[in-house]
Amino acid sequence: MTADIIDGKAFAADVRERVAAHVARLTGDRGLTPGLAVVIVGSDPASEIYVRNKQRQTVEAGMQSFEHRLPEATAEVALLALIARLNADPAVHGILCQLPLPGHINADAVINAIDPAKDVDGFHISNVGLLATGQKALVPCTPLGCLMLLRDRLGSLSGADAVVLGRSNIVGKPMAQLLLRDSATVTVAHSRTRDLAAVCRRADILVAAVGRPEMVPGDWIKPGATVIDVGINRLPAPERGEGKTRIVGDVDFASACRVAGAITPVPGGVGPMTIACLLANTLTACCRAHGMAEPEGLTA
Ligand code: NDP
Repeated sequence: MTADIIDGKAFAADVRERVAAHVARLTGDRGLTPGLAVVIVGSDPASEIYVRNKQRQTVEAGMQSFEHRLPEATAEVALLALIARLNADPAVHGILCQLPLPGHINADAVINAIDPAKDVDGFHISNVGLLATGQKALVPCTPLGCLMLLRDRLGSLSGADAVVLGRSNIVGKPMAQLLLRDSATVTVAHSRTRDLAAVCRRADILVAAVGRPEMVPGDWIKPGATVIDVGINRLPAPERGEGKTRIVGDVDFASACRVAGAITPVPGGVGPMTIACLLANTLTACCRAHGMAEPEGLTA
């Protein structure tokens, strides 16, 4: 078997187009422009690239982008004061505080200071609780992107055996909740799971989010399974020149392709979906704030 490759790049472009079309209607009919505020503290190089991409795509979707860059030494109380101003600003519908924050700032305190209705990362404890209890929430972007790809590929997920490898708050746990909400039978595996290979081999749907390069070989995969590889791992690639790197996922793509029914590549799979879903969440937050119909197919 040779797996179908799930083209996350193309799917993300389609999501962004749908968001932009909805935004154009909002702006044209109601004079309303969704706004996303991104807060970045310090100068982590990976965060810089990610934030620049977010801003460019926000503007391309017809939304307003507000950028707040604070120095590394910013006190927690100053960051909380900025969050309070953004919470009160009617032009801002989504607030994202780029993680990781410097060590002297309590990230949980900052995330939980964001108005849950503007929490487009879906990390606020209220949104976590709403998702866990099956209520309307803002859902973390990466798992939302994975869910969209799975629904597009499989239609109904009802009754499918799903294994989520990884139990982080930003990917593994919300992914498991979303799969459960779509009536999959969900197993969450982690570093203490016994016989990981056997657990993975049961999965009709395998979502790998561990952060270990190519950890999942093809013989851990059930023939025909749908494999979503969330991992982004950088490996040295001296063949490309001195100091060069290449990005691989948590799944060994070559051997997995011979067994899976469908698989997301790395790069070009889940990665592009994350920012697309951030834009979708900002649009959803704007629609909810103004009591308008939410965009179809862009929420959980
Ligand atoms: P975390 O490090 O927060 O969590 C990793 C999880 O994997 C933990 O639950 C850990 O278990 C589990 N794990 C680690 N090693 C093993 C192992 N040997 N066997 C079984 N389980 C293991 O990572 P994140 O969830 O934040 O990210 C996971 C990956 O996804 C990373 O590569 C990251 O770069 C990528 N990512 C990609 C995004 C995208 O946009 N595509 C967005 C976010 C993340 P335990 O809890 O027991 O320690």
